[in-house]
Amino acid sequence: MGMKSDIQLIKDGKRLDGRKPNELRDITIKAGVLDNADGSCYLEWGGNKVLAGVYGPKQCLPRHLSNPYKAVLNYRYNMAPFSVDDRKRPGPDRRSVEISKISAEALERVVLLEKFPETMVDVYVEILQAEAGTRCAALTAASVALADAGLPMKDMVTAVAAGKIDGTVVLDLNKAEDNFGQADVPMAVLQHSGEIVLLQMDGDLTQKEFHQAATMAIEASKKVYELQKAALKDKYKERGSK
Ligand code: ADP
Repeated sequence: MGMKSDIQLIKDGKRLDGRKPNELRDITIKAGVLDNADGSCYLEWGGNKVLAGVYGPKQCLPRHLSNPYKAVLNYRYNMAPFSVDDRKRPGPDRRSVEISKISAEALERVVLLEKFPETMVDVYVEILQAEAGTRCAALTAASVALADAGLPMKDMVTAVAAGKIDGTVVLDLNKAEDNFGQADVPMAVLQHSGEIVLLQMDGDLTQKEFHQAATMAIEASKKVYELQKAALKDKYKERGSK
């Protein structure tokens, strides 16, 4: 973000990948793709490919981390070594620890963890291919995987980013836009309550631009939410026909 360059990211009102400013990349979501997880989701979002698996609620280990009032929700965001152009060094780093922490906090707002004291719910998200916007893709997939696991939830988490490139507020930055743009604002929205459960900003925006970006991301999240719901419905249709 904010890398100085002469790359023109918008030409004749269109972005380099042909999108309009408020257009999402293509998204496909499939629920229930892993036999050995309690809930799962495979999601493609532009060039991002992510797989989410949920295990639990199960006995909380180590025991001293268990909570007598609610389940502990663990979230692990992990980038595969082959997910980016240069090999990504395997294992956790500051970035993935941060993404995991804020994503867990977003999901804790919707999963009824108090129904499962002393247990834990593990949410693993593997980034198989990364092309900017992976924390939003991961959280959107994780929310579907949790619903697929049958965990009681009071809402769905839907995450979308907006930002600024060439002085224009745009939705859902791709890799070039993330590298050479001026701002990136990932957000996660609860569809029923309208609450924002994750908000970050890289780069800078005026108040007016921020408002524009937030409005754009919230509007787009409604479209993504429809795809999340459709993925869950499709799975039950498939199961019913077996
Ligand atoms: P997000 O993926 O949520 O947008 P960042 O803004 O931190 O998160 O990263 C933007 C993009 O930069 C990623 O989607 C990925 O394509 C690339 N990237 C992130 N970390 C690495 C890394 N360690 N090596 C190579 N590319 C990376």
